[in-house]
Amino acid sequence: MSVWEKIKEKTEAGERLSSEEGVYLFREADLHQLGQLADGVRERKVGKRASYVLNRYLNYSNICVLSCQFCAFARRKREPGTFELSVSEVVDGAKQAVALGATEIHIVGGLHPSLPYEFYLEMLRGLAGLEPRPMLKVFTAIEIRHLAERVAKKPMVEVLGDLQEAGLDSLTGGGAEIFDAGVRERICRGKESAEEWLEVHRTWHGMGGRSTATMLYGHVETAEQRVDHLQKLRGLQDETGGFTGFIPFAFEPSQTRLAELGKIRRASALEELRVIAASRLILDNFDHVTAYWISTGLPLAQVALSYGADDLHGTIGEEKIFHMAGAKTPVGQTRGNLERAIREAGREPVQRNTFYEAIRS
Ligand code: SF4
Repeated sequence: MSVWEKIKEKTEAGERLSSEEGVYLFREADLHQLGQLADGVRERKVGKRASYVLNRYLNYSNICVLSCQFCAFARRKREPGTFELSVSEVVDGAKQAVALGATEIHIVGGLHPSLPYEFYLEMLRGLAGLEPRPMLKVFTAIEIRHLAERVAKKPMVEVLGDLQEAGLDSLTGGGAEIFDAGVRERICRGKESAEEWLEVHRTWHGMGGRSTATMLYGHVETAEQRVDHLQKLRGLQDETGGFTGFIPFAFEPSQTRLAELGKIRRASALEELRVIAASRLILDNFDHVTAYWISTGLPLAQVALSYGADDLHGTIGEEKIFHMAGAKTPVGQTRGNLERAIREAGREPVQRNTFYEAIRS
C-alpha cells in the first residue's frame, strides 16, 4: 500500500496521522487529491455550513519592546510611525462597529513598555459595557505574559482571572508562529517559547476560556517543523478541548526588517491551499479551519472552502498587521461579500459568534 493510500485509509477510518504522514502531505501528496480528502473530513464535521463573524479589529498601540524580525507592525517608543489609543478611543471605535452589527471586537497590540495594568482592565470593562455587548477576543499569549511579568508583576493565572472578570471572552491565537526553537531564534528572537505559548492557552482553557490557534508559515520553516507545530496544537487540544478553530497564514515578506526574510518568496496560492488541507487532516481534533482572506485574498479563501476550510473569519473593518507588512488585500469585507463567496462555493453561509456557534443562517 502506498503512503497516500495508507493516509486515505486512516483518514476515512478516523485514525490519527503520524509525523511521517504529515510531512508527506506537505512535501509529496498530490494537492488536489489532498484537497478532496480534506474536503471530505470537513463535510463530515460541519456538513454544508461555512461560517463568518461580523467583527472589528482594533489595535490599542503598536509600541513594542520586542523587534520580531518578521514584524512590520511594531515600533520602538520613539520611532516614527507609533500610535497609541486611549481607552475611550478604543471603546468609541468598538461602539461604532457594534452599532453596525459587529458581535466581536478583536484587539491586539505590541508589548507596551509603560501602559499601566489598569489601562487593559478599563479597556475590557468599557468594551464589555457596550450595548449590545460584543464578545471580546483580545490579546495574544505574549501580551498575557508581558502583562503578568512586566506590567502587573503577578502570576499569569491571576492576570487571566482579572481579565476574565473585566470581560475577556477569548484569547486570540497570534504569536504561535512556528513552535520550533531554532525557527523562533531566526524570526522572533526574544519572544516566548512554544511551551510558554502553550502554557498561556492551557491555563486559560483550564479557567473555562476559549481561544484560537494559528501558524505563520512560508518563511524559514521545514515541512517537519510545520508538522511538529500542528502536533503540539493537537496535543493541547487533546488535553483541554479549548481551541475553537485553527487559522494558518502565510508570511508577508515585502516589508520585513530582516534581509534574510526579505528575500523569501511569498507562499503561492497552491501552497496556501496545501497548508489548509494538510492542517485539516493533521488537526483531527479541531472542528474549524479558517481561510483567512486578509492573507489569502477572498477569491482564494473561497477556493479553500473546497480544500478543508469551513470558515472565512470575519468582516474585520480595518486591518493593520498584514497591511503594514505589505498585504494587498482589502482591509475589510461586507457581510454580503462573505455570504456571496460562501454561496458560490456551494455552501450555506452561517453567521457565527466568537465561539463558532451559529447566530444566523
Ligand atoms: S510580533 Fe508582536 S511581539 Fe513581535 S515585534 Fe510585532 S508586535 Fe511586538
